[in-house]
Amino acid sequence: MTDIDRLPEAIRPPDPGLIALVTGANSGIGFETARHLIGLGVTVWVGARDLAKGQTAAAELGPSAHAVQLDVTDPSSVEAAVSQVGSVDILVNNAGVNPGGEDIDGTSIEQFRVAYETNVFGLIGVTQAFLPALRRSEHPRIVNVSSGTGSLTWNSGQNPQFDWERVKGGGIAYRSSKTAANAVTLLMAQALGESVKVNALAPGLRRTNLVAGMSVGGDPAEAAAGAVRLALLPDDGPTGALWSWDGTRVPW
Ligand code: NAP
Repeated sequence: MTDIDRLPEAIRPPDPGLIALVTGANSGIGFETARHLIGLGVTVWVGARDLAKGQTAAAELGPSAHAVQLDVTDPSSVEAAVSQVGSVDILVNNAGVNPGGEDIDGTSIEQFRVAYETNVFGLIGVTQAFLPALRRSEHPRIVNVSSGTGSLTWNSGQNPQFDWERVKGGGIAYRSSKTAANAVTLLMAQALGESVKVNALAPGLRRTNLVAGMSVGGDPAEAAAGAVRLALLPDDGPTGALWSWDGTRVPW
């Protein structure tokens, strides 16, 4: 896998006709990723588990956006989306949930299941379903919107910019699901080789519905720019790594 510590600044100029699918694109980072891709000339399928929300988002994004009903936890919804979308060059696995809970004593097994259903099994199922279409693309890219909170290195206290001691053991369902998403990213990338680039994004703390009530976090558009860099990596760009929104490498 890659040994570089910073993403290339240059993105590959999108070819005319490039098509992306962004899951959970009706709000937050997914919506901003769709907006940014459209601004670069990419046609975007706005995946939304609630089609009405997807249609509202697509209407706001303009004529290059198309809504598709896509609940990543529902195989029949995923299958129908594969038929509707057809060709795709870029898959952004963005849909995610935070089921709450605290440490191992304060988190139910159901909360773990909810987190893993969407953040891990959903990501895997959607990727498997769209791989045939991605393999038909000339420059296929998969971006898994993960989280730095899933980094085992950072969780072990090795991040000088954050007081990990304060959150030690907490958010176990969400954070461990993102660790699993990171592992899946690496192993997928190893299996797919250079033909389909697969990278994960640590978007940083953002003001979105996911963290509603926390009144903290930066602009989700900034995180979306990081997703777009991974979606439009040049052919000699990296695969199989976790990247911060600012293009720096995050340790597993
Ligand atoms: P958000 O605004 O809540 O977006 C999450 C999106 O995922 C929503 O569109 C949501 O749909 C969708 N979703 C949830 N379950 C789904 C399912 N089963 N099928 C399809 N779509 C589903 O929050 P966000 O912060 O932008 O989250 C986007 C990604 O960034 C997530 O993977 C999250 O874990 C990650 N992330 C966020 C932060 C942060 O600080 N915000 C930090 C690190 C990582 P509904 O609108 O229908 O609920």
